Amino acid sequence: MRSTGQLEMPRSRRELIGSVIDSSTALLAEQQHDIVRFAMGAPSEDLMPLAALDEAFASTRSGRFDYGESEGEPRLREQILRLAAEAGAPTRDERIVVTTGGMQGLDLTFKLCVDPGDLVIVEAPTYSNGHATALSYGAEVVGAPTDENGLVVEVLPGIVERAGRPPRAIYTIPNFQNPTGVTLSRARKERLLELAERWGAVIIEDDPYGMLRFDGDPVPSLAEIAPDHPLLFQVRTFSKTVAPGLRTGWIDVDPATRARAIAAKQAMDTCSSVPVQHAVARFLERGALEPHLARLQPLYRERKLAMRHELARAFGDRAIATDPDGGFFLWVTFTNDLAGIDTEELFPAALAEGVAYIPGPAFTVDGSMRNALRLCFATSSPARIAEGIGRLDRAIAGANGA
Ligand code: PMP
Repeated sequence: MRSTGQLEMPRSRRELIGSVIDSSTALLAEQQHDIVRFAMGAPSEDLMPLAALDEAFASTRSGRFDYGESEGEPRLREQILRLAAEAGAPTRDERIVVTTGGMQGLDLTFKLCVDPGDLVIVEAPTYSNGHATALSYGAEVVGAPTDENGLVVEVLPGIVERAGRPPRAIYTIPNFQNPTGVTLSRARKERLLELAERWGAVIIEDDPYGMLRFDGDPVPSLAEIAPDHPLLFQVRTFSKTVAPGLRTGWIDVDPATRARAIAAKQAMDTCSSVPVQHAVARFLERGALEPHLARLQPLYRERKLAMRHELARAFGDRAIATDPDGGFFLWVTFTNDLAGIDTEELFPAALAEGVAYIPGPAFTVDGSMRNALRLCFATSSPARIAEGIGRLDRAIAGANGA
């Protein structure tokens, strides 16, 4: 066997790692002094339920330091079942596997359902680590457009016809999508279920933000519309609702798939951290999640409104921002005389002005959407948001030679 002394990676994987570094450059930059942080998609520490988390960790009984069940601690699974029932989508223990964050849920999902060369349809734009994971298992990833009602399901048959084969999986972020903030309508969910059934395709419903609704009525989840759907993979996490450092999430899948997921998880990390699972369970048992979410609602609504207001003031009709009813993100597309902006090229100037964001191309498979960017409104106070949009305005004015 030829040895080059170097780690050989398939070309697509090397490119993929490059694309992930592009967005993490923005995240690293936020660590610098006085950068307004619109890049990272995380709750700010001042809004995390720190007292309740401290209590939960302190009260976790000692001696829980052994390996645990790969499917997760029963006590935590019980709380996950309670949350699902209270959200109107009851599920069963034999469908749940606790995961090390939503990312492990996505990794398990793509690992189980994608073979090299399989077609995977994702939203364009989409969460970069989602399509990166599909690519890492050798999928051929194709983006489908989104509008204010989420994935434009109507165009999927055309995409499939052009590809000459049905997709193996369709990856959707139905609520307050990352990066656009849009929500998939019920009518489109029904159509998506029909199409997936016709093609025998898996639907991956990745929903970290659904519980962070601050306006409007919830749209039923795919599982509510089609309970016990054998090809529906639901991926969930506590990262956005509680705290990302917990690295605790879960998947909800058909029991036969669950058995395969447990075997795959055993080979990945045996089980998620046992003491952390107990602390999260304790946090949920004492009913700390619900008041925390209720407290967040007006704050996030206020932050979104502040960001939209500041964008309109700075750019008028030269920037179109989405108007989400929840979640963390606004997606901004520059138009008119700003339509030629390249948000990747603009990025160093924005950092020099003291504001970070994630450029649009980081969320596409083909590097398109260069005149768009993602802003996280959740992390900054309204005053800080005003400061950050002012800095963005100055960076753009400078780049445009004004
Ligand atoms: N899916 C989406 C759509 C996300 O936005 C994120 C977090 N940015 C994840 C999955 C991963 O979640 P976690 O941090 O729990 O791994």
